[in-house]
Amino acid sequence: MLHKKILHLSLDDVDTENYGCTTYTLSIIVKELIAIGVSFIDYPHLVRLNPNIPWKTRGNGAVSIIIEYENKDKIFSIANKIVYESYTSATKKSTPALILCEKEHITDDLIHFSEEALYKVLSIKQAKSLIKKHNMLYTTYGGEIGLIGALAALANPLIEHTYELICYRLPKNFGLPRKVDKESVIRMSEKTFPYTFNNYDPFSRRILITPHSNDPVLFGIRGLSPNKLIEAFDMIKIEEDVSHFLIFKTNQGTNAHLNFYFKINEVKPYYSVKIRGYVKTNPIITRGGHVFFILKDDSSEINCAAYEPTKTFRNIVSKLRVGDYIEVGGGVRPPNKKYPLKVLNIEYINILKLAEEYVYENPICPRCKSRTKSLGQNKGFKCEKCKSRFPNLSKEKRIKPRTIAPGLYMPPPSAHRHLTKPLQYYGIDLKINVPFDESIFFRQFS
Ligand code: ATP
Repeated sequence: MLHKKILHLSLDDVDTENYGCTTYTLSIIVKELIAIGVSFIDYPHLVRLNPNIPWKTRGNGAVSIIIEYENKDKIFSIANKIVYESYTSATKKSTPALILCEKEHITDDLIHFSEEALYKVLSIKQAKSLIKKHNMLYTTYGGEIGLIGALAALANPLIEHTYELICYRLPKNFGLPRKVDKESVIRMSEKTFPYTFNNYDPFSRRILITPHSNDPVLFGIRGLSPNKLIEAFDMIKIEEDVSHFLIFKTNQGTNAHLNFYFKINEVKPYYSVKIRGYVKTNPIITRGGHVFFILKDDSSEINCAAYEPTKTFRNIVSKLRVGDYIEVGGGVRPPNKKYPLKVLNIEYINILKLAEEYVYENPICPRCKSRTKSLGQNKGFKCEKCKSRFPNLSKEKRIKPRTIAPGLYMPPPSAHRHLTKPLQYYGIDLKINVPFDESIFFRQFS
């Protein structure tokens, strides 16, 4: 007789730009596993990995489940069948990977790998050597790159986490315009604030819960607890028949990709990093509305960019001045012909200390108190009003009031990455674990 075991199963890279979604394929696996009586130990995990990986399809998400069951081969075979079906539906253009292991195999080396996958660029070789070392069951189709994400999702403990309720469409509606009432989303967003986040961007007046691609997701609501998400779901007016929803535990909204400080000379292309340093050049605004400045620390210099989509954030960045001491977090782009330094695409800025900025003004006339006029370099000043001349006066240095204050600044929600921690969650304990409730995490509609 087989004994029940705790199993971790993960997958990644099921989708292409035009078809499918890794979370959707997982939701179909969950549905089949519920049907055969598998017990779930936790909410399915949706793990967002390094958002600066150039070969990601969209949000660099990978998924995993933790379950209890006696027959791991049966679980693997059910999941494999569904993954293969998704692969053929995506006309074999995706490169899915599926991994299954027992709880005992989630050891420190795997956890370390999953941590590095949040901010570094890892290799298939690194992933495969761990998979082989722990003798895991795995399969890939079309290529092996998906193993990196799948392995990273398998072992991420999601210590800091939020939740997302993803509602899926009926296949007959895939590709058609999404029928979700905008006003009801705005209402829901206001009523559930701050327990849900990034539903709506008041700056651009854009709904953020609905994706734009052809994938099976109708919408996803993000927040701090599964029960709040269900409450929010019930507030949304959905004007099409839907298939099902699944609630994920996720590292979205936790800044998990920006956990480590780097010296500028250590940063590598496509890494996600945070750096402390001094502003070396005043910001410039280029055609296209991007703002650039150079940051330096004691190791090197890097170009920092706030691109046009970050909208109002650029106003803050453009007010920085030489000598300001700041912390910035973001993704690194390799140097190119136009920008010979690496470029950090800034996701947040923390102004730690403002430099003093000065203006130099012509002196006040000592006789009549009006502002003097310069007579040219080293030639002194003349008062236009009383006509006196002052060959020995020099320009007056005055501290110019700065128009920004120290503190944390971020782009508006429409420019956030999935992992970006919203401003209102700074200082909130995102480690609080909501006990898993098997009766609410999956709901089938039709
Ligand atoms: P979606 O969000 O819709 O699921 P996606 O953006 O997650 O799409 P994927 O199809 O998963 O896109 O592609 C991301 C690819 O990058 C995967 O093959 C994954 O294995 C790989 N990958 C993820 N993180 C890293 C990393 N840190 N280093 C190298 N490769 C990575």
